[in-house]
Amino acid sequence: MVVFGGIRLPLLLLLLNAAFGSAHHWFNWQYEVGCQSDTFVAPSDEAGVVDFIKQEFPKQSLIKVVGNGHGFGNLTTCVNKGFTNRTSHIVSLTNLKKLEINKDMTVTVGAGWDVYDLVNELKEHNLSFNYLGAMRVQNIVGAISTGTHGTGSKITNMATQVTALRVVDARGNLKSIDEKNNSEELKAFRINLGALGLITEVTLKVQPTYFLKKTTKVLNATNDYNKLYTELSSLYKKHDRMTVWGPHFDWDSKTQTWAIEPTFYASWWEPTNYTGTRNCTLNYCANGCGDCIKDYICYDETSDAVSCAPQGICSSQFYAEIEHFFPMEHFMDVAVNYTKYQQAQTPKMKGFDNDKMIFQFRTLKGDDSYMSPANTYNLGPKDSGVFGVLEIDWMQNTNHWGTLYNNQEFAHDFLNEFGSAYNARSHWNKMAPNDPKHALSVFPKLPEFLKIQERQDPNCQFVNEFLVNQLGIERCRTALNL
Ligand SMILES: Cc1cc2nc3c(=O)[nH]c(=O)nc-3n(C[C@H](O)[C@H](O)[C@H](O)COP(=O)(O)OP(=O)(O)OC[C@H]3O[C@@H](n4cnc5c(N)ncnc54)[C@H](O)[C@@H]3O)c2cc1C
Repeated sequence: MVVFGGIRLPLLLLLLNAAFGSAHHWFNWQYEVGCQSDTFVAPSDEAGVVDFIKQEFPKQSLIKVVGNGHGFGNLTTCVNKGFTNRTSHIVSLTNLKKLEINKDMTVTVGAGWDVYDLVNELKEHNLSFNYLGAMRVQNIVGAISTGTHGTGSKITNMATQVTALRVVDARGNLKSIDEKNNSEELKAFRINLGALGLITEVTLKVQPTYFLKKTTKVLNATNDYNKLYTELSSLYKKHDRMTVWGPHFDWDSKTQTWAIEPTFYASWWEPTNYTGTRNCTLNYCANGCGDCIKDYICYDETSDAVSCAPQGICSSQFYAEIEHFFPMEHFMDVAVNYTKYQQAQTPKMKGFDNDKMIFQFRTLKGDDSYMSPANTYNLGPKDSGVFGVLEIDWMQNTNHWGTLYNNQEFAHDFLNEFGSAYNARSHWNKMAPNDPKHALSVFPKLPEFLKIQERQDPNCQFVNEFLVNQLGIERCRTALNL
């Protein structure tokens, strides 16, 4: 990696171009991942998307369709202007705001909807999603395309709720794909990583609004990780829809090590016949912000009970994050060994501007989307099909580039260390290290996905460096000057 005064080369080029060039600059939510394209295009309707793509096909222009950039890695970046001899476009479908409420408990929505607005709109019709991430700031197609998920051993990711979609391929052909007529193909398109074309609308399952009771309990932490995680493991046997926020660690600047906080907390959700005041979003801690290590109970409509609105992003400091999915049967080994590995690697973090480190555990029911991190294709007959999900967040005191880059590099090491041992898969938008060999072993349907990718995108217009390296799309290497 080339670094100038603590700044990586691509970022430096980006900043120079911001000052002197005429490129369009795209950034992710915390502004540390970015790219520069020649143009930014936001067609006003689906026909406009088709026209634009048709016009760009003969020129083999590079096209990156973006949602809201709510990720931690390079999945969504465009190919930088000037890196190839092709024109680079960023396309946003934000203007596609169709909304149809169907009679069969589904809704058909344009790709322009953000999850937050859609949830509010559905509430007006007494409908809600059962399946959401912890936050609601994503674009609906952006969220689906990476397999955004919440928690629950009977809950699958958001993409599993897609029953149909419309997609524009590189030639500008518009195709409808649905459960009835193209059920196998839909498995490839649900989690598509932006590599299969521009999805203009999706049809999603919804349900009548119902209430959930959310219980949050303070738990005691200990450095005896076997004891700590045995307790969590038995808590998971009692509560099928639970997030464990912890253990928490604080950076001790004197000893330059992580010190475990004495307490942390877990929240679980269960159905209730409560019909009183909806109060989960009234409690600031329901958003995961502030001093939340205390017992409380709240009740709310399902979306508000399980996910928080944009104000839930409560820190403006850089942070790095990994999230790995593994068969739940490995829970104890994963929890103990990831924690021990993190502690053993701490010397690499010395001298940087670290503040807090938070482990988070969730569960997720497996599914059959080809590129789902919780896909069940390589599971054995004894596996339950439920996945454990471990997230580690490294938070900083200040926005310090050196610390962020150090933590991001370090984040990659976990999958290299444990990927094959625990059949672990990374969230696509959270510091996934590039390892096509591992990708093939944990995504056995990758070859089928790549065949569809080639059909949809014969001239490599929809891919970027991340996709080429992660999925091993060798045919596109030259096109991107890699
Ligand atoms: C603080 C934080 C908390 C998070 N919490 C969770 C969580 O609880 N659970 C979880 O699973 N994830 C979580 N995420 C990850 C996040 O949900 C995903 O990264 C999601 O993909 C972001 O959506 P977006 O609209 O911002 O997508 P973007 O990053 O903009 O895009 C994601 C992908 O979708 C593609 N795409 C977008 N629109 C289209 C389209 N119209 N057609 C085709 N492809 C398209 C893009 O090309 C890209 O490949 C979190 C991220 C952050 C930063």
